[in-house]
Amino acid sequence: MKPIATLLLAVLCQSALANTAPQNIIMVVGDGMGPSFTTAYRMYADDPSTAEVEETVFDRLLVGMASTHPDMETGYITDSAASATALSTGVKTYNGAIGVDANKQPVQTVLELAKMQGRKTGIAVTSQINHATPASFGAHNESRQNYDKIADGYFDVKINGQFVLDVMLGGGWQYFIRDDRNLVEQFKAAGYEYVDDITQLDTVKAGTPLLGLFADKGMPWALDSANHMRLPALTKAAIRQLENDQGYFLLIEASQVDWAGHGNDIGSSMAEMHDLAVALEWLEQYLVKNPDTLLVVTADHSTGGLSIGANDNYSWSPKWLKNLKASPVEIATQLMTIKNRGALASDLMGFELTTEEVSSLNVIESDEPRPLHNAISKILDNRSNTGWTTTGHTGVDVPIFAKGVGSERFRGHMDNTRIAQTMFELLRNKK
Ligand code: MG
Ligand code: ZN
Repeated sequence: MKPIATLLLAVLCQSALANTAPQNIIMVVGDGMGPSFTTAYRMYADDPSTAEVEETVFDRLLVGMASTHPDMETGYITDSAASATALSTGVKTYNGAIGVDANKQPVQTVLELAKMQGRKTGIAVTSQINHATPASFGAHNESRQNYDKIADGYFDVKINGQFVLDVMLGGGWQYFIRDDRNLVEQFKAAGYEYVDDITQLDTVKAGTPLLGLFADKGMPWALDSANHMRLPALTKAAIRQLENDQGYFLLIEASQVDWAGHGNDIGSSMAEMHDLAVALEWLEQYLVKNPDTLLVVTADHSTGGLSIGANDNYSWSPKWLKNLKASPVEIATQLMTIKNRGALASDLMGFELTTEEVSSLNVIESDEPRPLHNAISKILDNRSNTGWTTTGHTGVDVPIFAKGVGSERFRGHMDNTRIAQTMFELLRNKK
């Protein structure tokens, strides 16, 4: 190509990029969802009666990989706060930081910029709404542990005289309805609709500010929720409240993929992934009808060192995870008060336990469910041949998924801070 033509092409490409301006941005975080989770989910969702392993929504949307390490004084392994702050502000920080840099100074988040521009903003998560990931988009605090202060900030901090968040959906009664302060009553007095049951979401008038709290802390596990689908319900409801002529920014989080990973619980891991996958399938269709929207999906880190295959055996059998009638945590709780646990365990786990498996449950004496939860997860690990290397986080790169206006800018490898920087650029292109 002639130099002049190359130059012209470069100018044309640049102006095309400069004009990229999504009306709405939907950011989705699968907390703890490293690549082994999306791969395992493909096998879990596979139809074993067909020759191919069917592609998932994750496969269709994949565009790149992100590094996740926090500020180098912290090291290579991030927590959810530092990584969410990187994803919301474009700045590296220390583990535990909520929307502040390494010097504990507040940094503007993409959600806050969207609000300053006159867009509506929201969070829809399966943890408490003041947990590390959503807090890092809508608040600033030197520590993720300051739950009450973060909740207070959602009411007390204003941007251009307005609340930071128009829509807040998830758990958190214990932080919002306290002896010293009732933030639910304050939000209601300020004009917010309030619902405390997920089935009430349909009754809320579209477009109104909305606070929906559905649990004391995190919401029940997907496996313990009615029809197992809570993130799709939260996603649809949030968008219904946020849609408007000025556009919106919505942060969605499948918070409990991480919690299942910390618990080395492959049953709940796959159910949480399914909850997220169904929400993403709905969003995929939403983008067909709303092509002016950008969808960006990623994880903050991976959790548990999930291994598809273990113990030198070349096999993985997700079929043992598919008939769980409750989460392993809930099954453990139900088994605690029973002496001979075989019948109920077989019923709730969805297959006939062997004599050895039953005795591995019957020998446990404990006042709390954790040892039984571990034993149930061990049975599922052995049946499926799943491995774990840690109950903490790992430093592996995480996948990036994107679709819609500007999605091509998330291709290839990038640091997680670049994801936020790109969203800032796209927001600033607002016409
Ligand atoms: Mg999180
Ligand atoms: Zn975690």
